[in-house]
Amino acid sequence: MNTNDRPRVLAFALDAAEPTLVRRMIEQDELPALKSLLSEGRWMSVKSPADIGSGSVWPSFVTGEAPMVHGIYGEWCWEPERMGIQRITARQLTPFWKAQAENGNTVGVLDVPFMPLIGLSEGFEVSEWGPHDLIDGRVNAAPAKVASLISNQAPHPLSHDRLDAGGPDDYQNLERLVSASLEGIRLRGSLAQALLKETRPDLSLIAFTEIHHAAHFLWHTVEPEHEVFSRNGFDNHRAIKPDLREIYCEVDRQIGDLIETLGAGTTIMVFSLHGMQPCHGVPTFLLPLLCEKGFARLADWNSKSWTERGIALMAAAKRRSPAALKKLYYKTMPPTATHRLAQPTMMPSYDWSQTSAFSLPSDQHGWIRINLRGREASGIVPLGEYEVLCHELEQLIRSLTSEDGKPLARRVIPTTDRVKEAIGLRIPDLVVHWEDEVFRAPLRIRGSAVVSQPLGRKFNGQHALEGFCIARGAADLYQGDSIRAEDLHRIMCRSLEDTRD
Ligand SMILES: [Zn+2]
Repeated sequence: MNTNDRPRVLAFALDAAEPTLVRRMIEQDELPALKSLLSEGRWMSVKSPADIGSGSVWPSFVTGEAPMVHGIYGEWCWEPERMGIQRITARQLTPFWKAQAENGNTVGVLDVPFMPLIGLSEGFEVSEWGPHDLIDGRVNAAPAKVASLISNQAPHPLSHDRLDAGGPDDYQNLERLVSASLEGIRLRGSLAQALLKETRPDLSLIAFTEIHHAAHFLWHTVEPEHEVFSRNGFDNHRAIKPDLREIYCEVDRQIGDLIETLGAGTTIMVFSLHGMQPCHGVPTFLLPLLCEKGFARLADWNSKSWTERGIALMAAAKRRSPAALKKLYYKTMPPTATHRLAQPTMMPSYDWSQTSAFSLPSDQHGWIRINLRGREASGIVPLGEYEVLCHELEQLIRSLTSEDGKPLARRVIPTTDRVKEAIGLRIPDLVVHWEDEVFRAPLRIRGSAVVSQPLGRKFNGQHALEGFCIARGAADLYQGDSIRAEDLHRIMCRSLEDTRD
């Protein structure tokens, strides 16, 4: 156990805190704790694998590995062995703090998204106490005395009620969401104080998840003039009180209190792995488009009329909510996931013998998987054709425009260009970053009969790809203005080594 009463490394993970907003609020004196930390330390940008998927960033931080290695990119991931998507678990991940604990350092981890529990006998590990990402759907805490401390605390208000809002004009629920987030942040601050005082870990990681959940619903209040919002009539909506910035302020207040009581003389880090930017729903046209262009075929394709084909109609049907379809949708989905961003549509059944490439349900980027022989259980694409097919798909996506000629894809990322690597790949083969043009509803695509209706229009924040880190007391441990999410833990580990008694 730490003989000192202060952690040697105290790190705060601000889930999905947007660096440009943090910077702006620091400059406007709205975040005094971060401002003071920055004046004594330094700012780095964090390069994260959010370009693959928002679900990649935390597993990459936790394990120190790239998505190619841990295989996680969303809450639902493709399983080639069974030709279906599966809700992910974090149990197979080995967190970097395991080696630290084995090395004799006490470790405390509160609510880091996608964290597995490793059976710590000292310190604390608490997952999904007030989560945005529901993995197990319940609080897990260890060791036993920590579990009992948690069960004696007031629960996080977002843990028993998701408090999602119906859209930017659902003022009542938006305000309830912000109020509950503020209350959750205060509770989190006092829980962290109690855990740190009780267990005195050498390395402490305290995550604040409230920013993430609220920002998906409230980003229009941060960038009201953005084109995505102005062309969709968001400017008619009245202000929300309290608003998202107050959530950032409350997190800053809690961090300030924790640093004041526990942080003097220690290495302090405040970081996020990805940020937030405007959106209006989630585009869904990739599935019908790949069907239309002959890359994929649905199982009951022949029995369907053109207008019934693909997700555009599935989406329309879901909006109209015929009881039977709705029932099926909710029956197939685990209860924790039905109202979640990450699963906007179900996987339809494909005729795999006629499918060379297909899309995976996504919360943001377009994800394309090749039906590769030897990797997919029903794969048909020979290894020798992998690269050509990827290239062909890339060309198709790059050429997509709206009817009036505006490009739809900003970037197409092949996750590997080597078939040797592709054979073991669990993440999508191609990742598409969309232009804001895809948030038009309906969206007509030039040269295609597919008419797109984005799903999840209640969401107006999606992830920006960069995070940030403010580090104090670790300035000499890492040089450079930017750091990869996979490498953040190295600063923490080095700092523990350097301060070993
Ligand atoms: Zn998110």
